[in-house]
Order: sequence, then C-alpha cells, then structure tokens
Amino acid sequence: MTACPECGAPACAARFDELLLLEFSDTGYGAVHHLTVPAYMLQHSSKLTSEGWLHMRELLKEFPVENKPPAFIRKQNKDFVDSGKRKFKFIAKAGLPIISKTTWAKTILDVRTDSAETYCADVTEWARSVLDDAEIIQ
Ligand SMILES: [Zn+2]
Repeated sequence: MTACPECGAPACAARFDELLLLEFSDTGYGAVHHLTVPAYMLQHSSKLTSEGWLHMRELLKEFPVENKPPAFIRKQNKDFVDSGKRKFKFIAKAGLPIISKTTWAKTILDVRTDSAETYCADVTEWARSVLDDAEIIQ
C-alpha cells in the first residue's frame, strides 16, 4: 500500500470513512467526532483553504484543552458548518496541500477501535499530537 502524501499513513482515507461510520452508528465512539474530523482535516490540508485550515486548528485547540460544555460545542459546530455565517471559503477546490508537512507523530492508523473507551482515548491523543505538530506551522 502506498503512503498518503499528506499524512504518511497508508490507506488513511479508507480508515477515516471506517471510523466515521463507527462514530455515526455508536454514540460511545461518536463522543469524539468533534476531534476526529479536525485532526484528519489538519493532516490533509489539500481539502482546505488556508483560512479553513487555520480555523480548523483554532477549533481543535479549543476542544481538548478547554473542556467546553457539550451544548457550547454543539452550537459551535453548527456555526462552523453553517457556511452562511462564515466569511471565507472552507473547502478548497484546487486540491493542493497548503502546508508542506508530511511527517506527523501520530496518524489515524494509531487509533484503535477495540472499545469505545480505547477509541476515545486514542482519538484524543491523536488530536493532541496533531495540534502539537501543527502549532509551529504559520
Ligand atoms: Zn493521509
């Protein structure tokens, strides 16, 4: 299997789809959905505009660190996906990476799915590590 040119992990897109399915079908796994998506997107900047990428990083920064109440997160997620409230384009059409980073301490392949508890812990670790790696990017 060839390694992804952006995150370095083989078959990461298939794994992402698999994990999203798991999150949608089991609320125990779905509890970390707000981390899975930004962590994956930050590692795949070709899907985003530069404003979108920076916004995603800000969003991820607030979740694991500040422990905001679920109601707040739900509202923020809603505002976030409601493109009418955004002043910039989020999803890139060009499909070119906007960051040059290709080596990451952790990728989606480090996330284990044996139990919801393990899964949530691993996604949180992955998201923190993405944030650490992404912190230095301007
Ligand atoms: Zn990848």
